Amino acid sequence: TRKKTTKTTKPATSVVQTSEPCEPCDTLGASLARHIRYGLCRDEHEKEELFTAVAESVKEQMLDNWRETRIKDNQYQQKQIAYLSLEFLMGRALGNALLSLDLTDEAQKVLTDYATTLEDLEQVEHDAGLGNGGLGRLAACFLDSCACLDLSVTGYGIRYQYGMFVQKIIDGYQVERPDRWLRHGNPWEVRIANRIVTVPFFGHTETYVDKDGRRHHVWTNTQNVLAVPYDMPIPGFNNGRINTLRLWKAEANDEFDLEEFNDGDYAEAVATKNLAEQITMVLYPNDASVNGKELRLRQQYFLSSASLQDLLARYVDQYGEDFSEFSRRNVMQLNDTHPSIAVPELMRLLMDKYGLGWNEAWDITSRSMAYTNHTLLPEALERWPVPMMKNMLPRIVEIIFEINARYLELVAHHWPGNIQKLADMSIIEEGPEQQIRMAYLAIVASFSVNGVAGLHTELLKQGLFSDFYQLWPHKFNNKTNGVTPRRWLAYCNPKLSGLITRRLGKEWITDLTHLAALNAFTSDKAFVKEWAEIKLTNKQALSEFVEQQCGVTFDPQMMFDVQVKRIHEYKRQLLNILHVIHLYRRILNGDTQGMAPRCVLIGGKAAPGYAMAKQIIKLANNVAHMVNSDPLVTPYLRMAFLPNYNVSAMEKICPGTDLSEQISTAGKEASGTGNMKFMMNGALTIGTLDGANIEMLEEVGKDNFFLFGLNAQEVAQTKAHYQPQQIIAESEALTGVMNMLKSGHFNLVEPGIFDHIIASIVDPFDQWMTAADFDSYRIAQENVSATYLDQAKWQQISIRNSAASGRFSSDNTISGYRDDIWMKK
Ligand code: PLP
Repeated sequence: TRKKTTKTTKPATSVVQTSEPCEPCDTLGASLARHIRYGLCRDEHEKEELFTAVAESVKEQMLDNWRETRIKDNQYQQKQIAYLSLEFLMGRALGNALLSLDLTDEAQKVLTDYATTLEDLEQVEHDAGLGNGGLGRLAACFLDSCACLDLSVTGYGIRYQYGMFVQKIIDGYQVERPDRWLRHGNPWEVRIANRIVTVPFFGHTETYVDKDGRRHHVWTNTQNVLAVPYDMPIPGFNNGRINTLRLWKAEANDEFDLEEFNDGDYAEAVATKNLAEQITMVLYPNDASVNGKELRLRQQYFLSSASLQDLLARYVDQYGEDFSEFSRRNVMQLNDTHPSIAVPELMRLLMDKYGLGWNEAWDITSRSMAYTNHTLLPEALERWPVPMMKNMLPRIVEIIFEINARYLELVAHHWPGNIQKLADMSIIEEGPEQQIRMAYLAIVASFSVNGVAGLHTELLKQGLFSDFYQLWPHKFNNKTNGVTPRRWLAYCNPKLSGLITRRLGKEWITDLTHLAALNAFTSDKAFVKEWAEIKLTNKQALSEFVEQQCGVTFDPQMMFDVQVKRIHEYKRQLLNILHVIHLYRRILNGDTQGMAPRCVLIGGKAAPGYAMAKQIIKLANNVAHMVNSDPLVTPYLRMAFLPNYNVSAMEKICPGTDLSEQISTAGKEASGTGNMKFMMNGALTIGTLDGANIEMLEEVGKDNFFLFGLNAQEVAQTKAHYQPQQIIAESEALTGVMNMLKSGHFNLVEPGIFDHIIASIVDPFDQWMTAADFDSYRIAQENVSATYLDQAKWQQISIRNSAASGRFSSDNTISGYRDDIWMKK
């Protein structure tokens, strides 16, 4: 054995080894029959139960490979990567698992015996909505790519009992309802009782000096919470690897708590149990902004501590307590600053639990952590008040202050005598209440800091983190986001992927650059015709979905113009709505010359506390109502607001979209990933020079992209002298739109409800510069119309967009993480 020390924490009898060879598992059909008969335990079953039995059977097909993957990885045959993220927006698992295991056809056949179709049954599965938007969905795409690329990567996250809220639209307003996704159980997960760890909170620290004169720190009198791992399988595409997503659930350490109370306090004792379990109760629904609630910090520490304890235990199982190999064998990739408290936590565990000295612990920590930044928006930069953290995590705060003191020495050497630099770069922000700047903590401790698109990384280096870039230029690198082509083309668009496979073979599924070969078919009439027919069929399916969800009829012959993403001012759904109002006015005025009939779809959730975003949803709904209720208008224009946009909705939306709206204020969208999904599926993009749009434009060429608006530099320059009133006055179209809005035409019975929106557009401090880009957007939209009316041209551009999307496979992104970050050091 390679173990250097053996730590036996459990009696040997507690480990039962199953060495007997067992029968290979049943076929899917036999396994399903068994699960229905012996698992469901009843003669009649609802669709949900049938789904559970199917999912259990599919999971069973993965168990042998899952075990083998685990054994292989526990022997450290490869470097171990831990992807730490507060969010994993997985969506449904069934269709994707079947695709990865090459079992889709078999499942379809088997289910005919149960009087249902696979398509029907898939609809029964609840989305695992454990994320807000792009950041969480990226984590999900990354897990898929890592498994596909045969990398040993474990996702570590939280098993929220309630995921992203369910959005209802009532009278045009967003209403939030809890997402009870676990109500019928989660057949994919396995509770791993022998990997439970304990996470401490509160209490205080004490220092003592031992007989050799060494100082020791103890964190004592803590309130301990159990972290219970639930594992979900992440199958690689047809390659036998099954990686793991390990989600932690908080449970009360009730032996401890209950013993403390006498019978009379029983109810209170049980209440403390609830308090512990609150930690993993609900996902905070804030996208691109922080919430600052104490419970959120608890979640962050809970995830970080449990995951690191798990990683260290795995390492100790293999190498004993000699940590000299640790940083060569492990990388922790931090998905934004949310899990960055892992930095002081790893220091604490190495020093206080395993007895390492500061320097040794710091060497290991700073060689193991890598940080991904996701946004430049100041409201999204996490800062935690020192008093709050000191109360909850006293030992962690001590460590952060020590990290800061040592790091500031380095800053002082680099900028001698520059006091301001010390204040600017300190991990601790001074003020009436000291704050811990989590991004700075992450940068200081990480060997790699990356942005998520070319422009974004440049802006980090030149702006937000420029001091750090000067100090450590080698740490900074770019990794443009990507999306998995398995879910976002092969699975969600079977007709288009069938056509592509017939022409190109199926290599594109694991190497998306093969799509470039589609360019050869842009003049192949039969191919183009089939390409167009598939889009039409997908539009029919999307139209049924819109009808059912919104009660609005979308005519598949019209252009489907779609903007689905979180509702945020920087994403400028408002600009889109203003354009709809402009078209509506033109139609009312009889000016329909050159106008391609279009159906505009907007969807997305607003953070529950984000008043302006909620008003934008209301405006979209009210405008849609006026547009759709005028029979003179509907031949040219229809509009719907889709409630509860989520991963499964996107799977229906992107195959049926003609025009993708990526219209954020330049410099504000870090990357975007929705943009890539649409492009892959042959949508044309109207967009600004922002995030990954820039790279999409580079790939497809400007003749195949509807570009408009100020660039990031122009936005920054315009800020000081922005005069929207004047811009409006000089634009006949925008004046008309504003007058119509102000007249109350869209809120006849609700006077004043859009006043804030109107005021925001005319505000010289409007950071989103909606008015500045309106005319440029309107003109680009006229070009969209003209192109759509030339269907031959449109279809060619559509093919070229798909062909140019190869670079945006998350396989490509993950290859970059693997080569430049994870394997490099
Ligand atoms: N939410 C869901 C459900 C998604 O599928 C995606 C990406 O496609 C996003 C949010 C992120 O979208 P965007 O990059 O447009 O903000």
